[in-house]
Amino acid sequence: MRAEPQSFDRVLSSMCTEPHPAAREAAERFLATNPGDPGTYRTVADLEDDAIATLGEIAGLEIDAGRDGNGDGEHGEGPSGYVTSGGTEANVQALRIARGRADDGSGRARPTVVVPESAHFSFHKAADLLRIDLEVVPTTAARRVDLDAVRACVDENTAAVVGVAGSTEYGRVDPIPELGAIADSVDALLHVDAAWGGFVLPFTDHEWHFGHAAVDTMAIDPHKMGQAAVPAGGLLVRSAALLDELAVDTPYLESTSQATLTGTRSGAGVASAVAAMEELWPDGYRDQYVRSQNNAEWLASELEDRGYEVVDPVLPLVAASLPTSLFEALREEGWRLSRTGDDERVRFVCMPHVTRERLEVFLADLDRLTAESSAAAGVRAGSRGD
Ligand SMILES: *Cc1c(COP(=O)(O)O)cnc(C)c1O
Repeated sequence: MRAEPQSFDRVLSSMCTEPHPAAREAAERFLATNPGDPGTYRTVADLEDDAIATLGEIAGLEIDAGRDGNGDGEHGEGPSGYVTSGGTEANVQALRIARGRADDGSGRARPTVVVPESAHFSFHKAADLLRIDLEVVPTTAARRVDLDAVRACVDENTAAVVGVAGSTEYGRVDPIPELGAIADSVDALLHVDAAWGGFVLPFTDHEWHFGHAAVDTMAIDPHKMGQAAVPAGGLLVRSAALLDELAVDTPYLESTSQATLTGTRSGAGVASAVAAMEELWPDGYRDQYVRSQNNAEWLASELEDRGYEVVDPVLPLVAASLPTSLFEALREEGWRLSRTGDDERVRFVCMPHVTRERLEVFLADLDRLTAESSAAAGVRAGSRGD
């Protein structure tokens, strides 16, 4: 097999990026380890504890020193999360916790989960798997969830309210403290999806984490802005008791129970997450946030100068209305671009590999294609004799 992965040079819409060199090296070293069997693979299981401790620090979660992330019950406090295969698994598991907690065995109506329309499509997978009804509520003109709409649809069947901290399409942050109060009013859990935003939000003044609000569970992915190798997602829980909702007995392993969704898991993901966070938290991530945010604001103003409508980048993600013909011509040139769900806007995710130099090359291509297409339009107009 001689295939090589694509270069990141022209990848502008992905939420993944080149792993940090230390993360790449750690991933290779731990390829043949399985944190799903902590009794056997002790070193990587300990690394997972380190990963959860740092993720907790990033997300304002007070973790008890006696915590133990492996479900082997050696310490009193129990795990505060685990390294998932990604944001999707973290979201599925968070809703699974909420459903388990809401089910009092009385056979009441199906539990519901309230999500903003800006929520990631993984919540639809979760609802399908878990037989939960999603109540999708609209966002306001600011592209954040409409709190009145959330208040209007929560009731005794609500198992969880979801807030997005860094939405996939527009990089918006829902009002998390207010959502926490609403969830509390009906005894539902608050889940925050910071899968993408979690590694940039600490350097902003948004209120998004366990220390800011009554957050119960959170998705936060090292394999996106965290610069870890894929797969490395994160599920954090406010208290170990919440993870117990997920625990099943594991008869043939050395450990006694497992709260994860998958069984065998990637030790490479765990080790690379620890390596990336050791290298980069907090200063490296802060520097990267500043670079990415500056690039997003620069790109937004360059596109506005060219007459395109641009959604203000609150986080390092720009959404701009480019004509379909231009979008397609740019893709023909090899630019990896995608559009928002309503097809209205092209997304530019200013990940670490999206440097100013690469954006300059992109804009030069955009200008050339624009000039070529107006020259072609001029020729057509001329040949019609007008
Ligand atoms: C990317 C993303 C997800 C899904 O994460 P995967 O790692 O692709 O499973 C969920 N939520 C948000 C907000 C995301 O940006």
